[in-house]
Amino acid sequence: MQHEGKVYLVGAGPGDPGLLTLRGRELLQQAEVVVYDYLANAKLLRHAPKDCIRIYVGKKGGGLHACTQEHINRLLVEHARAGRTVVRLKGGDPFIFGRGGEEIEELAAYGIAFEAVPGVTAASAAATYTGIPITHRRYTASVAFITGHEDPDKPLSNIDWNKLATGAGTLVIYMGIKNLPDIAQKLMAAGRRPETPAAVVRWASMPQQESVIGTLADIGDRVRAAAIKPPALVIVGEVVQARGCINWFEKRPLFGRRIVVTRTREQASALVSQLENLGADCLECPTIEVRELADYSQLDAALERLADFDWLLFTSPNTVQHFFRRLQQAGQDSRALYGLRIAAVGSSTAKALRPFGLRADFLPEKYTGEALAEALIASGFAQGQRFLLPQAAQAGKILPDKLRAAGATVMVVPAYETVPATEAGAELQAALDAGAVDCITFTSSSTVRNCFALLACENEAALRQALARVRLAAIGPVTAKTIAEYGLPVAIMPERHTIADLVSALLHHFTRESPAARV
Ligand code: SAH
Repeated sequence: MQHEGKVYLVGAGPGDPGLLTLRGRELLQQAEVVVYDYLANAKLLRHAPKDCIRIYVGKKGGGLHACTQEHINRLLVEHARAGRTVVRLKGGDPFIFGRGGEEIEELAAYGIAFEAVPGVTAASAAATYTGIPITHRRYTASVAFITGHEDPDKPLSNIDWNKLATGAGTLVIYMGIKNLPDIAQKLMAAGRRPETPAAVVRWASMPQQESVIGTLADIGDRVRAAAIKPPALVIVGEVVQARGCINWFEKRPLFGRRIVVTRTREQASALVSQLENLGADCLECPTIEVRELADYSQLDAALERLADFDWLLFTSPNTVQHFFRRLQQAGQDSRALYGLRIAAVGSSTAKALRPFGLRADFLPEKYTGEALAEALIASGFAQGQRFLLPQAAQAGKILPDKLRAAGATVMVVPAYETVPATEAGAELQAALDAGAVDCITFTSSSTVRNCFALLACENEAALRQALARVRLAAIGPVTAKTIAEYGLPVAIMPERHTIADLVSALLHHFTRESPAARV
């Protein structure tokens, strides 16, 4: 008997990928097919297995349907019948204006097994993320969710605006932007006071969230003036007044700033999450990819004669990872390092040693390769000492050259290689063309070179032109020097060269610039 498939209708939440439920994530992790739409954040697909079939059935407001509902229903039925585990990922909650009910009816009609998982609905997100409590003891104890668009074939008048206008304290209108002037008119005609406070929230919970506040009488004009487009929600009611003091989300210090992160995908997450917590909209644009080498003979040979060295130097967490992977593959463990002293270039490199039960003996004050060499020399640790330096095949020579000049023997062995990543180039170019980038962060010279190579600029003048309105941030002086080689100014560089310090420097830069910008 053929294994029967199953369809899970999963609420994706309003946009912020952090608002998916744990159950939703668990199901995505097991999915063989994911069918998702325009309101479900595509970042959520990262939870799905690599080989999972991803089907976009985007639907935009205003009647533009990329796929008909019949087509979607058929997809769900066909994949389930083929024995697959299907996740139907829907924006917000599947049962609140999500046509989840219709999809389930279809599955039931075909006798296909299904389950549904709720999600954070847009009303809830818009309320929380603008600081509007949709119910409040001082103002109202009732709320109604209404669609302002309904089925495009049905007239708006199918909704009993007369009863709704004063029947619930708070009205939350989904899909109501296009018809907003008409809706406001109907509510006032039915007895809701024109001074009733009203809010419109676009892309709630997302870094590009926008909100407009007004009254029932003027909200239509305000929305038109601010050029607010779907997806947006309308909240009408006295509760909107409570917002003044608690619009915490849009007041976060980096809110509305678009910051490009050029690190490899594996390394980007710490920087991205710290910036996102401050409200920034991060565009991940990995410019380099870390790869294993085709030939490890040099590192393997060095691992066999570790006893011939006095020092082991680590210049990045990547070297630590690759060094120990090779060591373990050779059937050895950290005990093979007995007697060796270890120097690390910075705190993250030192931290990367911890899982192997090791501590760095030596950490320079300043986190650069040059500073490490100088500190070792100044402490009398260079003359006559034998160093093993595993590093990226492309890494610079300052560190070994300085140590050698001070009388050390240094054996440099490649531990991994970095290759330019080209995938994200088009996205970055488009963001720059749209004038939507405030800052690009660089954490190494190779991120600078690869990023600039990705941009479609035929010469340096064109590059300067393309980046004229963008602040460039460098983690340290070596990276800054590489930026300067292109004739470009470095706007931001922290005193200490760590990710946390880079984040502080960005925060300082952008909040100093416009202290009154977000009130
Ligand atoms: N099932 C969804 C609603 C789908 S209807 C839910 O529970 O949220 C689509 C409408 O939802 C949009 O037109 C818009 O009015 C609203 N919407 C969805 N996501 C939104 C968001 N992040 N911010 C504001 N409105 C949103």
